[in-house]
Amino acid sequence: MTDATIHILPDHLANQIAAGEVVQRPESVVKELVENAIDAGATSVTVVVKQAGKQLIQVIDDGIGMSKADLELATIRHATSKISSSDDLHAIRTLGFRGEALASVAAVADVEIRTRRTNEATGWTLSSRPGQHIGVTATACDVGTQVMVRNLFYNVPARRKFLKSDLTEFRHVSETMQKLALARPDRRVVLYDGNVLVFDVKPSSLQERIGDILAIDATQDLLSVDAEEGGVSVHGYVGRPSVARQQRNGQYLFLNGRPIASRSLAHAVTTAYEHVLDRQQHPVFVLHLTVDPSRVDVNVHPQKHEVKFDDERTVYLLMQQAAASALQKANVVPTFTADLGLAQRPLQSLNMTSGDGGMIVNRLTGEITPVGGRSFGGGSWQGQAPSQSQTFTGAVRNAFEDLMAGAGRSVDPVQREVLQAGVAYIVTASDEGIVVIDQQAAHERVLFERLLARHADGPVEQTLMFAVTFRVAADQMALLREHGEAIRSMGFDVEADEAVTVTVRAVPSDVHAGTEEATLLDMLRSLADLGPGPAERRREAMAAVLAVRQSIRRGDRLGHNEQQQLVRDLFACAVPHVTAKGRPTYIIVQYDELLRRFQ
Ligand code: ADP
Ligand code: MG
Repeated sequence: MTDATIHILPDHLANQIAAGEVVQRPESVVKELVENAIDAGATSVTVVVKQAGKQLIQVIDDGIGMSKADLELATIRHATSKISSSDDLHAIRTLGFRGEALASVAAVADVEIRTRRTNEATGWTLSSRPGQHIGVTATACDVGTQVMVRNLFYNVPARRKFLKSDLTEFRHVSETMQKLALARPDRRVVLYDGNVLVFDVKPSSLQERIGDILAIDATQDLLSVDAEEGGVSVHGYVGRPSVARQQRNGQYLFLNGRPIASRSLAHAVTTAYEHVLDRQQHPVFVLHLTVDPSRVDVNVHPQKHEVKFDDERTVYLLMQQAAASALQKANVVPTFTADLGLAQRPLQSLNMTSGDGGMIVNRLTGEITPVGGRSFGGGSWQGQAPSQSQTFTGAVRNAFEDLMAGAGRSVDPVQREVLQAGVAYIVTASDEGIVVIDQQAAHERVLFERLLARHADGPVEQTLMFAVTFRVAADQMALLREHGEAIRSMGFDVEADEAVTVTVRAVPSDVHAGTEEATLLDMLRSLADLGPGPAERRREAMAAVLAVRQSIRRGDRLGHNEQQQLVRDLFACAVPHVTAKGRPTYIIVQYDELLRRFQ
């Protein structure tokens, strides 16, 4: 008899404990098995789950398969063909590397593996039950590997009880399958829920794959991203604002082909959209990062989701700039540079090298308009793309061609009749079609540009007859201290003399009486959301707040002159087609479209 209380766990128990880390739910099994298939060079991976994988998970691949000897080792813990020395650990190129997955799965489910190597005549089958060593037998089977996992956790009732409803577990499985499909567009990926085909995507370009998996129009709605900096490259697509979602479920990041989660990098991309999306909307993106494997540490989490970069900041900035430049190239985002005079002189004409005519560059938006040697005013109707989600096609292209040809037609909507409809919209016509202007959005745009332009000449203050005093919370006070100068530069005369009391003596002109406090607090909030950045950005954020607060609303009745003035002001803007937050200000129902509808 020994009185030792410490003893070595039997293998099957140790495996079960390790399985707790690797196998949490059916989805984890699916992920490990599909990764194995991809590591094995499969060009096609098919997954079938029954009862969300609780009853059966079957993964079929056409990869290199395993020899008899390999198969015998496959379910043994730390058996892996992928690394053999600690040096390899620092430069991992495959998805799996711990040799833990199959052992863990085999510890908590019945597993059957059938496999055949390319050049071998027979295949082999391994059947295993938790805690039992079962031999390998010869079988006839296709080249590649088939893994069947039955009755997950049946021997660990406590864990089985923890599984969620089939619907929830299946959602996890399908999310993981989507990630894998987006990670490897060059592979065919198939998912069945029982007998029901969920998706079957053929090998394709990343762009097409994204369209298939996220159910969006890949040619219309995706903007390509490609950038490289200091050994890190990012390649992929970001969605136009029109396909943004209420949740973050359209955001995918991959590092060297592996799906990763990174709040910081997702944030980097999101900041590129700050002017075109509301805070409740989340952009869609699928971005692949490629980094020299020795520069990343992936060995931080049992499920291998989280990664560490040796230079996180470079990667953050790279992602941010790459996304921003994709949006700018597509004329989606107004970019204001630090040049103060810009807001007043946004349009700059450039001569093209080829000599035929020139082009106008909107330096705020990066928008380029070809012109046939004709001068071009900021307010020209046809010079502006009608909506952020359209590319230069159809009527818009015609409009540009007209401009290039120097056609002197009267295209000014201001000359046309206007009317207010639904106490919310101003309706007029252009040569392209019926123009419907959202009066509130339009006015927001007008005020926004006016505030920025006015700011360039110095703020216009309006001194209050009676100073307004109010108390603020400590965090707001901290913000006020931090951004006091920015706030003052917009025309606020504010003082925070005590710990919690703020006194406002002057406000930017046009701030409605009684809204001084709310306006100031709104501005502080938007500065807080913005975080650190160039002064110009802060000014835009504050101008956007003021514009929203002061604009006329839907439901405001406008006189005929006011309607006309609004249309004139809108089309005199540098970027008439969207608000500072990226909402469209007007739409055009094209005559072509009307013709179609009346047939
Ligand atoms: P890891 O993937 O970390 O190496 P696993 O337990 O997932 O560990 O797999 C163990 C080994 O079994 C792998 O290294 C590989 O050699 C082999 N293997 C697993 N799945 C497959 C497959 N689908 N095709 C070919 N070989 C496989
Ligand atoms: Mg593996």
